[in-house]
Amino acid sequence: MPLFDPRPKSNRRDLYDREIELSLLAKGFRECSPLILLLGLRRTGKTSLLQVSLNETNLPNVIVNCRVFEEKNSITYYEFLEVFTRSLSKLLKRARGLSDLLSKVKGIKVAGFQLELDTSRKERPTITSILEIINEWAMNQGLCVIIGFDEAQELAKLRGIRILPVLAYVYDHLRNISMVFTGSQIGMLYRFLKLHDPNAPLYGRVALEIRLNKFSYDQSIDFLEKGFLEYGIRAPRTILEHAVSVLDGIPGWLTMFGYYALTKGVTTRVVDEVLEKAMRMVLQEYKNYLRIRPIAAKRYTLILRAVAENHNSWSSIKRYLEVIEGKKISDYVFTQLLRNLVDAGFLEKKNNIYQIPDPILKQLLLKHKHI
Ligand code: ADP
Ligand code: MG
Repeated sequence: MPLFDPRPKSNRRDLYDREIELSLLAKGFRECSPLILLLGLRRTGKTSLLQVSLNETNLPNVIVNCRVFEEKNSITYYEFLEVFTRSLSKLLKRARGLSDLLSKVKGIKVAGFQLELDTSRKERPTITSILEIINEWAMNQGLCVIIGFDEAQELAKLRGIRILPVLAYVYDHLRNISMVFTGSQIGMLYRFLKLHDPNAPLYGRVALEIRLNKFSYDQSIDFLEKGFLEYGIRAPRTILEHAVSVLDGIPGWLTMFGYYALTKGVTTRVVDEVLEKAMRMVLQEYKNYLRIRPIAAKRYTLILRAVAENHNSWSSIKRYLEVIEGKKISDYVFTQLLRNLVDAGFLEKKNNIYQIPDPILKQLLLKHKHI
């Protein structure tokens, strides 16, 4: 079920367009770029792009799925190590000799093709020691090993370890490792990496940045048409136009519409059903965000609702908030709240105009007053 397969894609033939981004990534891999950032809103296809490009390279690679930490307030070093070592297992299958090298690291054991923490030992391996060994192995093979961290902004929640010095060390010294970080919460990822902070370990390091945008209007229609044509269905143009006006050019929502329409028919009713489903998903994600930030939760929602209701400038949003709360709010605090929402990807700021980039979130705020 190529284009409309709801899972992240891993084959180029199932991926609509993204030629430029794929070639940028391929170039980054060829050059073993130390740090690649793959950025875009939720559901623009970051995981798909990463999987497709890794599938096409013959370099050894792994993806560490940091989404598993999404609902957590914080991550312990042990929790991270567990996920990290398990993810590295994929390397063992094709990396001859690597498992012997890794099994010598204290605190790690190799069971078949599985890399695990050795719980019988008190010692925890350091991430650096693991990465050094991978680098050494890669150097001997004359290869570059690609390590992807999907939704890497989650790593900002790590406690009990300073991860940035580790990343800086990898960047500077482990030349046969290329790190790819994807991020939906772009500002959060930058806040975490601190590439522009003179006092931070990664300061001044150059990253290869690849941004995934929404599909344009024409691309969105074309994507839907092509997806249906794979099943010999000629979808009515008016319905496709309606779908795109509701779901915008967000690949994930368009894919979801295609997926359901294949079984239920290409109708406006299915557009509405998909909108309902999408709103439930977005509500869940937004609630997760708020749950970790209980103190400002009410204000975040008021700000987003103001923007949804077309109050789009700093001062008009602020006024909206002050009218509802019946009191003044300091410029500093207000600006901070706005910035947090932008950094998390719920808001977008262009030429001092604030907008909600995800049409589903916008409709959710307009339709459901009780959030
Ligand atoms: P992200 O990682 O950015 O949240 P995903 O890669 O998980 O996005 O994609 C979200 C959904 O959209 C998935 O169902 C995926 O199959 C689909 N999708 C994203 N980009 C494309 C594309 N270029 N062509 C086809 N399907 C896509
Ligand atoms: Mg993803």
